[in-house]
Amino acid sequence: MLDVKTSLYNTLSKKIEEFVPNEEGRVGMYTCGPTVYHYAHIGNLRSYIMEDVLEKYLRYVGYDVKRVMNITDVGHLTSDGDTGEDKMLAGAKREHKSVMDIARFYTDAFMEDCRKLGIKKPDVVEPATNCIPEFIHMIEVLLEKGYAYLSGENVYFDTSKLAQYYVLSTQNEEDLKVGVRSDVDEDTNKKNKTDFVLWFTKSKFENQEMKWDSPWGIGYPGWHIECSCISMKHLGEYMDIHCGGVDNIFPHHTNEIAQSESYTGHKWCNYWFHVNHLNTKNGKMSKSKGEFLTISLLEEKGYDPMTYRLFCLLSHYRKPLEFSWEGLDNVALTYDKLFKRVKNLSEEGPVDETAYAVYEKRFAEALANDINTSSAITVLYDMLKENFTDATKRKLVVRYEEVLSLGLTRALEAVPEEKVDSELSAYVERMLEERKAAKKEKDFARADEIRDELSAKGIILKDTREGTVWEKAN
Ligand code: AMP
Ligand code: ZN
Repeated sequence: MLDVKTSLYNTLSKKIEEFVPNEEGRVGMYTCGPTVYHYAHIGNLRSYIMEDVLEKYLRYVGYDVKRVMNITDVGHLTSDGDTGEDKMLAGAKREHKSVMDIARFYTDAFMEDCRKLGIKKPDVVEPATNCIPEFIHMIEVLLEKGYAYLSGENVYFDTSKLAQYYVLSTQNEEDLKVGVRSDVDEDTNKKNKTDFVLWFTKSKFENQEMKWDSPWGIGYPGWHIECSCISMKHLGEYMDIHCGGVDNIFPHHTNEIAQSESYTGHKWCNYWFHVNHLNTKNGKMSKSKGEFLTISLLEEKGYDPMTYRLFCLLSHYRKPLEFSWEGLDNVALTYDKLFKRVKNLSEEGPVDETAYAVYEKRFAEALANDINTSSAITVLYDMLKENFTDATKRKLVVRYEEVLSLGLTRALEAVPEEKVDSELSAYVERMLEERKAAKKEKDFARADEIRDELSAKGIILKDTREGTVWEKAN
């Protein structure tokens, strides 16, 4: 383990705290995965990039991390307050496909976006539809313990049974109550405004495509129960870090805590890590607003996805980030320069192990301060400016890339530009000598062949009175 103390902002305590896992050296981490009814937008991906950095930072300093993520393929309604229709069903209708096909297609698309952005696949990725028996079990226990009730043939969680319900929220309770009250499309089966559905059976969502048998009739689970069950299935009853975007704080994570702690009878998760939103000039980027930006769209416009990763890393995860094309263009230039800088590192010199250790730790310390990615990138620049050997710098770039994942190791694998140029000149000169000899022998066919061969490699020959000169085609 590197000797650094990690501080993280914890939404639960609303403070920056020292991170101490339940079990020494090991971290159990859970991430709310995507609802796979459409492509992920680059706002969603901001959350996954920053969570990826958190996971990789913990590994960098030496923790053994187990990260679990669900895939929401059922039960997430168009409104987080249990109203509207299932987003998956809406996606299936939109594309005239089955819910299963939609889920498969957009899960693959999400994984592909993650791959392009250097986001590591969590150790466990579990679709909600895999875990119906686990959901039913937890709901049964909640009913037995008196935390849930049946009404209108749905099962609800009874928030009035809790000593404190709004444990996570940064807003005051009264504001939230107003928010809940103003929910126009209200479910009259609920005893309390803040109660939420654990299992839907007879409700207005009768056209739901995916349904399962249960003790309460054929139906489907609510959205919140899946994260409580899937995390416990793989991480047990005690979890270190739970992640998500800030929009998940209420009601999703608040409800996850309510049902998980009522089920186990003890505290469930110690640290809550929330990534702030990516906004456009018109507010939060969201799919419900119709137009949204995807990684494929950025690629179509000529941006390397890594530019977007760097764009995110240059800001702190707890601050809202405004997206603009000018902003992305600036980062694209920064990325190009950084890539070239790394590409031109030679392999010369021994590795200076003392300098390596100093900079290895300095990078960790930047991130240990509540995942301050922009100061970690400053450490990278400072390191590149140092006057120790290129071999040391290369080794540090490789180490930093374990967390940054900016594709800089591609630059190290590429041959430095000067080397390409000198190898190319030597080759062209050899070919020109051969062409001169062929011409002298009146072997014009061979001379033309050489011209064509060089032209295929982007080398243009010009026969002048002084001899043959060459240049690289643009
Ligand atoms: P969803 O697929 O809607 O369940 O969202 C996936 C993740 O993206 C969740 O963690 C959300 O909190 C997060 N998210 C949604 N919108 C944004 C946004 N504009 N910026 C950053 N994260 C977001
Ligand atoms: Zn969740």
